[in-house]
Amino acid sequence: MARKPLIVGNWKMNKTVTESISLIREIVDFLKREQNTEIAICPPFTSIWVARELLQDTNILLGAQNMYYKDEGAYTGEISAKMLQNIGCKFVILGHSERRIYFKESSQEIASKAKQAINYNLIPIICVGENLEERELNQANYIIQEQIKSVFEIFKMHDMEKVIFAYEPIWAIGTGKSATPEEANSMIKFIRALVREKYTEKIAEQIKILYGGSVNHNNINELMLKPDIDGALVGGASLNALTFSQLFNYNSRKY
Ligand code: PEP
Repeated sequence: MARKPLIVGNWKMNKTVTESISLIREIVDFLKREQNTEIAICPPFTSIWVARELLQDTNILLGAQNMYYKDEGAYTGEISAKMLQNIGCKFVILGHSERRIYFKESSQEIASKAKQAINYNLIPIICVGENLEERELNQANYIIQEQIKSVFEIFKMHDMEKVIFAYEPIWAIGTGKSATPEEANSMIKFIRALVREKYTEKIAEQIKILYGGSVNHNNINELMLKPDIDGALVGGASLNALTFSQLFNYNSRKY
């Protein structure tokens, strides 16, 4: 069965509520009646409610950019999976390299968050990726494997069916220097092979794996033509309605 492409906008720490309202209205204007891609936006927590209201009659889905792995309680400043589910999120981005680097999140913590997301019917978009030095030292595959190992350790077969991975090489994020379609496809194929080896052929074939790192209107078509790339996780280009629409309305078809 073909995997439906998914384009996800990660707004990061951008857009006030007022700015979010304008951006969402503009994005909605670019929607086509028949959309071949699934689309999701992940605004900051403060804009999720208003996004939900504005997106009600559209097929744009909502995601969050982080959450904590505990159910509830005295964890000042944190947001739970239950809260995200209740506000209408379908996805949650976990383990983004900015969280791993600036907030020192470990692969184990990220795996626990992903498991908790699944407990609340959220789809975790688990990000993995190597830095430039690791790539140059030919350690990229090893690094990705290590990051994913923590997920494999606690995920049962039925959990893995609900996961999305995003391969985001750190050297390509926000730098304007995207991985080539070949590089991106090759790593995504490797991730799929790890899933196949640990779980089943069926799960490996159905799981979506996105690419992220300087995706824009110049490279989206070529990236999406690659057999293993199922979509994009987009930072910078998702902050403008035109540039984001050029991604979810990309026009290469491989199926
Ligand atoms: C990201 O932060 O997930 C990302 C891919 O950013 P950008 O598209 O700006 O490189």
